[in-house]
Amino acid sequence: MARITLRQLLDHAAAHDYAVPAFNMSNMEQGLAIMAAADATGSPVILQASRGARAYANDVVLAKLIDALVDIYPHIPVCMHLDHGNTLATCVTAIQHGFTSVMMDGSLMEDGTTPADYAYNVRVTRSVVEVAHAAGVSVEGELGVLGSLETGMGDQEDGHGATEKLSHAQLLTDPEEAERFVAETGVDALAVAMGTSHGAYKFTRQPDGDVLAMDVIEAIHSRLPDTHLVMHGSSSVPEALRLLINEYGGDIRPTWGVPLEEIRRGIRHGVRKVNIDTDLRLAATSAIRRTLVSAPSEFDPRKYLKPAMDSMKAQCVEKFEAFGTAGQAERIRARPLREMARAY
Ligand SMILES: [Zn+2]
Repeated sequence: MARITLRQLLDHAAAHDYAVPAFNMSNMEQGLAIMAAADATGSPVILQASRGARAYANDVVLAKLIDALVDIYPHIPVCMHLDHGNTLATCVTAIQHGFTSVMMDGSLMEDGTTPADYAYNVRVTRSVVEVAHAAGVSVEGELGVLGSLETGMGDQEDGHGATEKLSHAQLLTDPEEAERFVAETGVDALAVAMGTSHGAYKFTRQPDGDVLAMDVIEAIHSRLPDTHLVMHGSSSVPEALRLLINEYGGDIRPTWGVPLEEIRRGIRHGVRKVNIDTDLRLAATSAIRRTLVSAPSEFDPRKYLKPAMDSMKAQCVEKFEAFGTAGQAERIRARPLREMARAY
């Protein structure tokens, strides 16, 4: 068994100046592809499931799938993380199903769409920290609302995300407030808002400092040098995959993601967890479209899901190598939850 908590994994990443990509997972093919990439590069892994993924796959299926992946690759430390939990109950049921880390996103109210105030965020996040830490499980909080600095709009993914127009003040995490938030909640990692958003349509042009505020990360890191920072919505949205999808009948309009060099800049300033979902979705869809169009008589799902897995694996390998995660798995000894509980 090599299940690991987010705290332990990101402490190691901070000590050795790298970051860990957190890949969203809602089915077996994604899980197998991510783990094959981790195995090929010797990387520790963060698998994360949103509430939408839990509803899609069923908690029991997800829990047993993760058990299986850990059994198949006992030498790979695996952190199983809840993405954008909205209540204490959502976080607790994730812990009951074997998650070693939970995100309590108190930047939004329980409905997952209405921006919350600071006092609510502290209160609900603190309540999750108390329960999770007692079980040895790590907690990621969020301060600031994720959304585009170009449009002022949040973004809905799996039903989660702000739906009203947001101000610049809401869209950028305030460094002074971040310092207070970490002290008042005790979170292990902090998701910050600085212009990234979920989905494929992050930027309408190559992002610069006006729309991707990496200086916010640097300012927060200088105040909180020991807090692990998290970049959400950080797929790079490879143009080649977009073109491939469109070549085989898709319709993805021109768009830009977060360049790998910007993420590497973040890693130099305390970013330790980088959330990636869209790139694997694009990889799978492009491979499936190409197979179905190229071989119209094919009807065995394995014939298009295998290329989809290969394409997702290639995306994961690229991230493990770009973020410095490759080769780190063998250097980490995962500590059991009871030991982590005592450490808090
Ligand atoms: Zn997110």
